[in-house]
Amino acid sequence: MSAIAIRDVRKSYGKTEVIHGVNIDIADGEFIVIVGPSGCGKSTLLRMVAGLETITEGTIEIGGRVVNRLEPGERDIAMVFQNYALYPHMSVFDNMAYGLKIAGLSKDDIRARVDKAATMLQLQPFLDRKPRQLSGGQRQRVAMGRALVRDPAAFLLDEPLSNLDAKLRVQMRLEIKQLQQSVGTTALYVTHDQVEAMTLADRLVVMHDGVAEQIDTPMAVYARP
Ligand code: ADP
Ligand code: ADP
Repeated sequence: MSAIAIRDVRKSYGKTEVIHGVNIDIADGEFIVIVGPSGCGKSTLLRMVAGLETITEGTIEIGGRVVNRLEPGERDIAMVFQNYALYPHMSVFDNMAYGLKIAGLSKDDIRARVDKAATMLQLQPFLDRKPRQLSGGQRQRVAMGRALVRDPAAFLLDEPLSNLDAKLRVQMRLEIKQLQQSVGTTALYVTHDQVEAMTLADRLVVMHDGVAEQIDTPMAVYARP
């Protein structure tokens, strides 16, 4: 069974179709990167998996369950956004705990999960700070932590490094890969950066004009003439 199955998925805005029948099967624990130029439909595809866009045609399954009609909170996923979408007035701890509070977890369970994630992400010293008191890399880690504490079947990441400078991008890229490997969670990651795609992916989905043109390992994709 695939962790995520995207079957014959199409998306139209009004009369314009922007995703033209995409099929992707993602194995448990696999790191898939969707790569392609701006406007090719990467974000739209990811947002349909996340439940942030309706699916015009086709089906998306997460953990064997068709999720087309499920709200984001009812899908077993956690999303990391380009701008991190942290709550500015809340502490790092509260940012990480918020989703768990909404889900009704006990205080002890929340504390344990946030502590564990904060340790993995080296955020322990910053739990009482507000997002504006953090560096770019630390904010990025909080966004990752907020996803991690949910213990989802899959992480969805939409250009998560594009707001960082070049040096930090390389460092955070390594951290994301290590984190994904150590927790073993499936990852679906969107970027327009080919180097990022190549370094992170077990398999790449090369998109062009709303079509998944190639789905293969980085070696196989970049070996092609
Ligand atoms: P990418 O993430 O690869 O940059 P997007 O998924 O954002 O591409 O966009 C794919 C196409 O869909 C683009 O042509 C974009 O203009 C169009 N599009 C995205 N969102 C909307 C929307 N809400 N309404 C109309 N068109 C949209
Ligand atoms: P990205 O850089 O992630 O592709 P965009 O700048 O293309 O993001 O889009 C930002 C937001 O605007 C998204 O929510 C997208 O759905 C929406 N959007 C993109 N293109 C269009 C469009 N042609 N019409 C309406 N909304 C759009």
